[in-house]
Amino acid sequence: MNRDLWLPDGDLDGDHREFARTIRAFAEAKLLPHARAIDEARQFRREMVHDLATAGILGGPLPPEHGGRGWSPLQLALAHEELGAVCGNARGFCAVQTGLVAQCLARYGDDAQRRRWLGPLVRGEAIGCFALTEPEAGSDVAGLGTAATPRPAGGWLASGQKWWITNGGIADVMILFATVDRALGKNGITAFLVETRREGLVRAPMPGVELGHRGSDHATLTFTGFPIAADEVLGGLGKGFGVAMGGLAAGRLSVAAGAVGIHRAALAAAVEFTAARQQFGQPLARFQMVQERLADLLASLHASRALVHRCARRRAAGTETHADVAMAKLFATEAAAQAADAAVMLHGARGYSSAFPVERLWRDVQALRIYEGTSMIQKAILGRMLADG
Ligand SMILES: Cc1cc2nc3c(=O)[nH]c(=O)nc-3n(C[C@H](O)[C@H](O)[C@H](O)COP(=O)(O)OP(=O)(O)OC[C@H]3O[C@@H](n4cnc5c(N)ncnc54)[C@H](O)[C@@H]3O)c2cc1C
Repeated sequence: MNRDLWLPDGDLDGDHREFARTIRAFAEAKLLPHARAIDEARQFRREMVHDLATAGILGGPLPPEHGGRGWSPLQLALAHEELGAVCGNARGFCAVQTGLVAQCLARYGDDAQRRRWLGPLVRGEAIGCFALTEPEAGSDVAGLGTAATPRPAGGWLASGQKWWITNGGIADVMILFATVDRALGKNGITAFLVETRREGLVRAPMPGVELGHRGSDHATLTFTGFPIAADEVLGGLGKGFGVAMGGLAAGRLSVAAGAVGIHRAALAAAVEFTAARQQFGQPLARFQMVQERLADLLASLHASRALVHRCARRRAAGTETHADVAMAKLFATEAAAQAADAAVMLHGARGYSSAFPVERLWRDVQALRIYEGTSMIQKAILGRMLADG
């Protein structure tokens, strides 16, 4: 197999190639052996957190003064491609723990908040979650209904419900988005950085069985008079909408890069399988119609990666616009979904079984089209920018 055709290595300078190879070696040694088992058992693997922390991945994109490694956006993209190629649960965990929680905290938190939580998050001693989505407020974040009502003695009491919260059932700390005044619309939304183990919060697993990311924890969080102290606001009163949008816009790069990883893994599996499987007296890969599908997957993989790396470079240069990450997420996740679909088809009935990896890739990739802004929402962002001129 000519892995050079689909790995990023040939397009990278020496340092970045070495970086990608280090993360790849970690993922293959520490994550791959468990990836299928945790999916089938539908079990979050706590040791994974320890392994990710020890490898420096949980702190990767954070600045060194916060215990991180100071990764560039391109390093972040390369890391998430490698994680995504091997284990969607590990990549999804990092996207929330580091991408949404620790990075929002580093960006919007005050000194006391950072001192209290960043170290434990980076070392994997504390788990974080980002509690934004509600049953009645998904894409329409500004319509969220969880209310933070002021207490006469100071602080607030939160009431309402969140769902689909990754790590929600196991988190020690949470960024909770609630409105301090619904009449203010998005200007009432406030982010709070709170410990989870308090009266007034009931956590339960999501009803039903998730399509993918089955080794992850997804929970409903029901708040009834959940106490929040006056100094637990993150980023300013009424500034929560900006915190949420800032966190999600930053996080979309890692989702797009994770999709490149899924795409690459689907292509690699399809190439390997079609080379070995014989029908009509020859390997499937000898049939032109099969080759045509593989060729399309290779070309779209490089197109996705180019968009992701372009966005990373522009982020590093400070020239990124909302269009850059929206295009990268939209294109890379949709292309990865098509790649996983083609890979299942090329495996025939074997692609329909967890004994082969493509079935899990197919299930996992659907979520990347949905979370951190669906594909339609990315199109809405781009369409608005084009229409507004
Ligand atoms: C595996 C997984 C993990 C998640 N983790 C988290 C988490 O950690 N924290 C968190 O807060 N949330 C999380 N979510 C929730 C996720 O962010 C939301 O599901 C997502 O934002 C979409 O919201 P919704 O499901 O309510 O869909 P809706 O907003 O109801 O959308 C339904 C459909 O309508 C379309 N649509 C909506 N509005 C428009 C529009 N204006 N124009 C065109 N089409 C539109 C959407 O594209 C979609 O196809 C997770 C979801 C999944 C699947």
